[in-house]
Amino acid sequence: FTTVSKGSVQEQLISFDDIGGQDMAKGELREALEFIKDIERIKTLGIRPLKGILLNGPPGTGKTLLAKAAARFTGSAFLAASGSEFVEMYVGVGAQRVRQLFKQARDTAKRNNKTSAVIFIDEIEVLGGKRGQNAGHMEYDQTLNELLVQMDGMSDKDDIRVLVIGATNRIDILDQALLRPGRFDRQVKVDLPDKNGRLKILELHTRNKPLADDVTLDDVANDTFGFSGAHLESVANEAAILAFRESAGTITAQHLHGAVEKVIMGEKLDRIPSK
Ligand code: ATP
Repeated sequence: FTTVSKGSVQEQLISFDDIGGQDMAKGELREALEFIKDIERIKTLGIRPLKGILLNGPPGTGKTLLAKAAARFTGSAFLAASGSEFVEMYVGVGAQRVRQLFKQARDTAKRNNKTSAVIFIDEIEVLGGKRGQNAGHMEYDQTLNELLVQMDGMSDKDDIRVLVIGATNRIDILDQALLRPGRFDRQVKVDLPDKNGRLKILELHTRNKPLADDVTLDDVANDTFGFSGAHLESVANEAAILAFRESAGTITAQHLHGAVEKVIMGEKLDRIPSK
């Protein structure tokens, strides 16, 4: 079970400033996280503690990065898992893994002298899909039930507070039980970046790369309509590889153009012309 290895110390160093664009998502997430940070005032006012936040949006848009930044922002331990890791042939194993994950989160926080933990569950629709739709698959139901039990069982009296951040691209197939108050009752939309967002992401991913004088990242941002943050990271990397192959000392506009084409070909991106 790979949850712990993904929560390495280095990964926790991601901050909101390392995420390009996504200003709306960052703003909403930060606002929600103030609840975690200011627990004493929350208690005084009798506000129900925030247990779950759902990040909803297409692949590669920075949902994992946002969850890591959330952990750092709140000084929490970070653990990651994917919904598919819980789906097992044997009944009960998925539920047991959910219990393990929560225990691991609390243990990791304690070990690191932290009072809170963020559990990130990617592809949460795999484990939290509508019950009864999995052709009699009792296993999914038990796993989802266990997640609900764990979330319901959390209280602001716990010595370690746990926040569950789920990510999905298929909010439409999520079991409504997960969206009920006291569970994932905050939803944050994480969309493909607009032009400004693409520019910010390109700036972030080229900040340690030597760019030639003929490069205008604004042009690259214009040419990459429909690209996700992950695609843009690939563009920066592929451009550097092209420069390396040509033994060039800097990355030119031509390299970046070639890299954009390569990513489009590789991904068969469905794009609408931006100009
Ligand atoms: P998935 O749904 O496929 O898990 P995701 O939304 O969680 O995707 P991430 O794993 O956060 O996406 O992003 C993948 C990589 O793409 C990141 O490691 C980063 O290099 C790059 N990336 C994505 N979005 C951004 C962004 N907004 N700013 C900077 N880099 C980004």
